[in-house]
Amino acid sequence: MKETIQLSASRPEDVRAAARILREGGLVGIPTETVYGLAANALDGAACARIFAAKGRPADNPLIVHISDIKQLYTLVRTVPKEAEILASLYWPGPLTMILPKADCIPDEVCAGLDTVAVRFPSHPAAQAVIRESGLPLAAPSANTSGRPSPTTAQHVLHDLGGRIDAVLDGGPCDVGLESTVVTLATNPPRLLRPGGVTLEQLRAALGEVVLDPAVLNPLAAGEKAASPGMKYKHYAPKANVVILDGPRGAYLDYVNAHRENAGALCYAGDEKELRVPCVCCGGEENSSAQAHELFDALRRLDDLGVSTVYARCPDKNGVGLAVYNRLIRAAGFEVLKL
Ligand code: AMP
Ligand code: MG
Repeated sequence: MKETIQLSASRPEDVRAAARILREGGLVGIPTETVYGLAANALDGAACARIFAAKGRPADNPLIVHISDIKQLYTLVRTVPKEAEILASLYWPGPLTMILPKADCIPDEVCAGLDTVAVRFPSHPAAQAVIRESGLPLAAPSANTSGRPSPTTAQHVLHDLGGRIDAVLDGGPCDVGLESTVVTLATNPPRLLRPGGVTLEQLRAALGEVVLDPAVLNPLAAGEKAASPGMKYKHYAPKANVVILDGPRGAYLDYVNAHRENAGALCYAGDEKELRVPCVCCGGEENSSAQAHELFDALRRLDDLGVSTVYARCPDKNGVGLAVYNRLIRAAGFEVLKL
């Protein structure tokens, strides 16, 4: 165990310290607008291997490379198709990751042996400052222990990885709260592999046809190969068994109140007044962005309820709601009950 240095994104000398650690091959938890990332030099295979060890991440799950200038993209991939230029002009910097054929400089650890690489230009000023200051593209998956909800505060990062990483740069809570949208442009038509803050509707408005990968909403069949390896793992799992209840509000409240033994609720603000079980609220019923912002912290807080089953309300599946639903069904191991 080594001590994890706590740095503040509001102090320029701390940002420089984070960049120095990264240049020396170390690991730093950094804030982004989506979730906290666990960063390492993306061009250094040994540094990237340390990310997998610290997180307990399966070796076949590739990393996203973060840049602070669109020009860097051209050094990391073999070709930049017109679709990538369109998306970059509309949504970069921002919560969108594009997958493209990888250049030779990308070590195998980053792409987990695939011939493509995932690239994102984050909008968070502290993320941009660390990338710029380090002079490197930074590979950074979510800074959680594999299988746990992604971290949206520096405290979450320390809880999971304290003593296993060199430093964490505290930039306050993350805005979006869910990981980036992942779209592959290495297939024709482009395919949405993971929904996030940039929505399927926005991608289709920009590019025309965009296929929704079936793994976004459904479990993989036995033996089926995941287009995005991260989607095949049970994810975001709280200790309790989570069951999504899909139906109107009244039916949800009645069902939960009739099944109170050892039960808790993951509900929307206002529902807790009518539920007779311990509750964690997650945003408002009509507000997908607030649900996204609060979901991972809510999933972590469920562990404090000390219940064995949590009944969750079913998010709306449009816009950012699709991303909320995608994370929640994984937390629920795909258990959805129609009311
Ligand atoms: P994380 O950064 O922890 O949110 O995980 C990164 C996500 O991007 C995972 O779901 C990966 O499977 C996905 N990903 C990264 N690189 C690729 C790639 N080259 N092809 C397909 N999916 C990728
Ligand atoms: Mg992750």
